[in-house]
Amino acid sequence: MHRLSLLVLFSLLLMQIESTAQGAPSSAKAHKKVLLLMGTRFELVAVSENEQLANSAIDAGVNEIKRIEALISEWQPTSQTSAINRAAGSMPVSVDPELYDLISRSIKISKLTDGAFDISFAAAYKLWKFDGSMTQMPAPEDIAASVKHIGYQRITLDPKNHSVYLQDPEMKIGFGAIGKGYAANRARDVMRKMGIKAGVVNAAGDMITWGKQPDGQPWYVGIADPAEKDKVFSWLTASETAVVTSGDYEKFAEINGKRYGHIIDPRTGYPATGLKSVTIICPDAELADALATATYVLGPEDGLHLINQLKGVECLMITDKDEMLASKNLNLHFYQNKKSPQKYNKTATAQP
Ligand code: ADP
Ligand code: MG
Repeated sequence: MHRLSLLVLFSLLLMQIESTAQGAPSSAKAHKKVLLLMGTRFELVAVSENEQLANSAIDAGVNEIKRIEALISEWQPTSQTSAINRAAGSMPVSVDPELYDLISRSIKISKLTDGAFDISFAAAYKLWKFDGSMTQMPAPEDIAASVKHIGYQRITLDPKNHSVYLQDPEMKIGFGAIGKGYAANRARDVMRKMGIKAGVVNAAGDMITWGKQPDGQPWYVGIADPAEKDKVFSWLTASETAVVTSGDYEKFAEINGKRYGHIIDPRTGYPATGLKSVTIICPDAELADALATATYVLGPEDGLHLINQLKGVECLMITDKDEMLASKNLNLHFYQNKKSPQKYNKTATAQP
């Protein structure tokens, strides 16, 4: 276990992307749009000399995210996910290959993480309210009963008909822990296909970058000091890389002075404890999203152990005791010099 010693205690991470180009050698500019999608603040950045192209690529990225949301949302009654959930315990539902593949990748991640990540978390999740309105713990027997309706092993996939069947009538699936990452990947793909050679898709701090900033610098993700949110204490180079954080700082319940974040441990039905936040750095935003959630559930020891076994995946975590832990190779990409990240330009590589 690699431990970074810190003089200051950090209680959470706030990601912000550094996109201000200084002394740009070309006329390319970073064009940007911010809007609410998937219930989240999305920011899309396209670097191009052609403003019109940048804007139409951003619009295409936005439409792609909307399309994905309409397909996978468990909240929209017209989505295919809702159709699967309604048919739980009664019959298989044939769905688009895209959704079928997302579910099948989700199940693979469940296997990889020993069930810490599980899209069938919903039965336990619905006993909690992570919007500040909860004052009492759910009854322990309700929590114990809910866990029986969680289990990726009881999602039956039939590759012939692209059908999905939830074996238990009380079972529901949802993509809260992987959908934003998937959408970010796809929006990036769409923009890149349209000729945008560099950009960022940032879903409230879950982000993916490609190419370079207009001045030729790699993208840097600033890790903010939560005590002073506008102050970046360290930079991470992030070209061609996704940086995704899961934490208890946004959606949580506070009951009897204790904070419960919105990530459920599928083994117990209780919100996972032990960590305040996990940041995953790897080339794929979908994988980063799912692994951030899984690592959060696994906790500091098992979580770090898992990430250290995965090639090309790094993590940074803050425990509930305000300790900061990093995976084996993260220090290569972790810079303390916040004033002039440019100076690392030559040595900076995005992928571990
Ligand atoms: P955020 O949405 O804040 O970026 P996450 O990616 O960690 O955070 O996703 C948390 C969401 O994932 C929860 O709100 C819930 O919808 C869903 N979820 C909760 N626990 C699990 C779990 N163990 N496995 C998969 N999804 C989960
Ligand atoms: Mg996630």
